[in-house]
Amino acid sequence: MGTHADSSRGPVDADPVRPRIVILGGGFGGLSAAKGLRRVPADVTVIDRHNYHLFQPLLYQVATAGLSPADIAYPIRSIVGGQANTRVLLGRVTGIDREGRCVLLGDRRIPYDYLVVATGARHAYFGHDEWEAVAPGLKKIEDATDIRRRILLAFERAETTEDETQRRRLLTFVIVGGGPTGVELAGAIAELAHRALAADFRSINPREARIILVEAGARVLPAMKPTLSDNALRALEKLGVEVRLGTMVTGCDAEGVDIRHGEGDDRIASECIIWAAGVAASPAAKWLEVPADRVGRVAVEADLSLPGRPEIFVIGDTALVLGREGKPLPGIAPAAKQQGAYVAKLLRNRIAGKPTAPFRYRHRGDLATIGRKSAVVDFGWIRLKGTLAWLLWSAAHIYFLIGFRNRLFVALSWLWAYATFHRGARLITGSTS
Ligand SMILES: Cc1cc2nc3c(=O)[nH]c(=O)nc-3n(C[C@H](O)[C@H](O)[C@H](O)COP(=O)(O)OP(=O)(O)OC[C@H]3O[C@@H](n4cnc5c(N)ncnc54)[C@H](O)[C@@H]3O)c2cc1C
Repeated sequence: MGTHADSSRGPVDADPVRPRIVILGGGFGGLSAAKGLRRVPADVTVIDRHNYHLFQPLLYQVATAGLSPADIAYPIRSIVGGQANTRVLLGRVTGIDREGRCVLLGDRRIPYDYLVVATGARHAYFGHDEWEAVAPGLKKIEDATDIRRRILLAFERAETTEDETQRRRLLTFVIVGGGPTGVELAGAIAELAHRALAADFRSINPREARIILVEAGARVLPAMKPTLSDNALRALEKLGVEVRLGTMVTGCDAEGVDIRHGEGDDRIASECIIWAAGVAASPAAKWLEVPADRVGRVAVEADLSLPGRPEIFVIGDTALVLGREGKPLPGIAPAAKQQGAYVAKLLRNRIAGKPTAPFRYRHRGDLATIGRKSAVVDFGWIRLKGTLAWLLWSAAHIYFLIGFRNRLFVALSWLWAYATFHRGARLITGSTS
């Protein structure tokens, strides 16, 4: 089959001189750019491999049966549906023809005058991709429902096995990585096992489940102040999570994890290992044929454009953007959103013939939750922990969710879980063997 160019200019076909702006990715960065371009005289195309925008910060709640996938995802078409200059294409980007100014979706070519690359990140296994099959990471809805299946199935299989060693292995859950995702997952699995499931089984006692969080560094939540890391550690321990600091994973297989710590090598027998230890950027550097940093990010200029290519912008988790102290900006949603909004402003100005000052990131704070009513919050000027921090964390997440239905459902689910410990989305989907 030969390649074919997309001749449509989008919903507004009338003016052939309107610039074509193509945005790759309908995540935090891409959508923020698209929304900022709503009144710009240009034809905007948003391309994503999924038809929905995913609120990744709450994925761990889908993985631990607290929320359903539809609570944290929203159709991209609905989000930009009111923007007459914007169309949405469902498709997987496979390459970029810089010279021909086209995005490649397999054999389909989408021409652009300006390109915004916002295809995010995926999980990384530090050169051990073979671990992915036994230690899945959390990035997509499919990952979350697969992890939920593994967790719930482990309890079901433990209930039916006669073999005590296997039962112990099934009731041991290992989370690799003590960043926000690892901490949130560990706390939620501990609550699921020790509270929500506690009365539901007859042969096993789910309260005996071991939840082990393995972190190579000296503390959990390393991006936060040490006092908040200590608070998070204590909150995890209170929930019954065993935290192994200064411990490196050296191997993963279907029956457990090999670890190395100060006292030597060891092994944890487990059939449910979850990877929350590292991410790498999407393969945009390969598409653009430019060098990438250690984690695959593309270095950009102060206006977020590709060096020597003022018509191409790279933003969000895929971009290596340096902050004021010369340190890379964190891979978090607010950074991606600010960059998307900035590129929209720059394009608006450029089309109007006006200059734009370089991008400046404003860090508003770090948040992480531990279980259903504790969190740590670091706004720089104020640090909070415990229930007050959890209320702030909840309010922020509900506020940033897209869609009234999602906000309402998530708020109600949390209130319900707060009052009852129940986790309503305990469905095992996919294979049960
Ligand atoms: C489990 C988890 C928890 C997190 N928790 C937090 C948190 O609490 N707070 C916080 O601020 N940040 C959090 N983050 C990080 C935050 O989600 C990211 O920094 C943010 O999503 C980056 O935005 P982005 O636009 O660069 O990429 P994304 O939001 O990931 O969007 C990328 C988009 O590109 C699409 N895409 C990718 N490849 C292709 C392709 N080849 N073709 C077509 N489309 C493609 C994807 O489908 C996706 O829609 C978390 C991330 C994860 C995974």
